[in-house]
Amino acid sequence: MAEWEVVIGMEVHVQPSTRSKMFCGCAVAPLNAAPNSHVCEICEGLPGVLPVINKAAVEACLKTALALECEIPVHTKFDRKNYMYPDLPKGYQISQYDLPMSRNGHLDLEGRRVRIRRVHLEEDTGKLVHEGDKLHKASQSFVDLNRAGVPLMEIVSEPDLRSADEARDYAMALRTLLRTIGASEAEMEKGQLRAEPNISIRRAGSEELGVKTELKNINSFRALHRAIAYEVKRQAELLESGGTVVQETRGWSEAEQRTFSQRSKEFAEDYRYFPEPDLPPLELDRDWIEAIRSALPELPGARRARLVEQYALSISDAAQIAADRELADLFEGAVKAGADAKPTANWVIGEVAPSAARPTADQLAEVVKLATSGKITRDQARAVLAESINSARAPHEIVAERGYEQVSDESSLEPIAREVIAGNPKAVADYRSGKMQALGALMADFTKRAPQADRRVANQLLRKLLG
Ligand SMILES: [Zn+2]
Repeated sequence: MAEWEVVIGMEVHVQPSTRSKMFCGCAVAPLNAAPNSHVCEICEGLPGVLPVINKAAVEACLKTALALECEIPVHTKFDRKNYMYPDLPKGYQISQYDLPMSRNGHLDLEGRRVRIRRVHLEEDTGKLVHEGDKLHKASQSFVDLNRAGVPLMEIVSEPDLRSADEARDYAMALRTLLRTIGASEAEMEKGQLRAEPNISIRRAGSEELGVKTELKNINSFRALHRAIAYEVKRQAELLESGGTVVQETRGWSEAEQRTFSQRSKEFAEDYRYFPEPDLPPLELDRDWIEAIRSALPELPGARRARLVEQYALSISDAAQIAADRELADLFEGAVKAGADAKPTANWVIGEVAPSAARPTADQLAEVVKLATSGKITRDQARAVLAESINSARAPHEIVAERGYEQVSDESSLEPIAREVIAGNPKAVADYRSGKMQALGALMADFTKRAPQADRRVANQLLRKLLG
């Protein structure tokens, strides 16, 4: 694999957080809505109706484009992309072709600038539901138009990504950015962010691009990573065995963990784009664009750099914290409330991030201070944090109520150390015969007998008594 260079570009479809659809007044349906319960003449594509542009969707698209440092042209328009498919009753999708809402931006990952070709707006299609299984031929198909006409932003990158890791990092960074600026909730599992990577490989050092394949509708970061890794390996094996890569669209089978051919580019569609005659060209007001730009919050990339600078965090800690605006606010709030930056970062990354329940900044600050001062043990601090989130009470009240106080006094811990030694003859024999790891089992028993024991003192005591 070493002699191959991987080249990946990505199209990402994002559903902006709007209440209504792109060109009609229908509400955007929740996932569990009854089929065809959120439709009207416009999104059903009946003849003679007039679409109207959703201003909130335009604003979300401009926000996103500005956060990606795109240029916003004064003139933009919508176009018809013509094709026939049962989930598209109009026979065309309204999208943007040659005058997209934005161009030429970028998103910086650690060590890699990814150029953004364009961010434009379009509408989603409906959904087909097949009854029966594919092997025995579906007996019936249904069309659900709840999603038809839902706004979508399409974010198209240049082929600047060089590995499955980078492609996943890029998609995650986009999600963080979209959430930070409030343009989309960007939940992949709800289909609000769908990635379509195009992948090719070439001999290292070559300037020419290889033949690419495009993977459709990937809906988790894990699947994105695995599908790209699979595809890179497949292409390399094909080329190394003297074969050629066919330009085509491929799907990802989660069950079989492989990509499979969907349709080849030999039958590439000719969409016959033309300007949407029912919508006026959009002349974007410069003052509005500047107002949106100046209202953007601090972006994740800038915040990551500031966390390193201001709190002396490592780049990787800062990146993890800045990747979630809520976490980053919590971290900064706890430090402001008097906790030290480094242990607070450890608590945020190790304890708060993996859990759904979030403490307030004051609760976290207090727990971090209690733990770092040695007043309570790490395990106790964890329990106090959980309890204080649950009951919305201050950590010190919980410590007082539970009688938590770390015991560091050797004379009161020594009897427990003796009990531990008497109760674990096997581990003691192992330790004395040189198996240092047996100390772990003894420490575990110690903590069970005396959860409030200072682990450092307990460890020293055991070593001393075991000679
Ligand atoms: Zn509608």
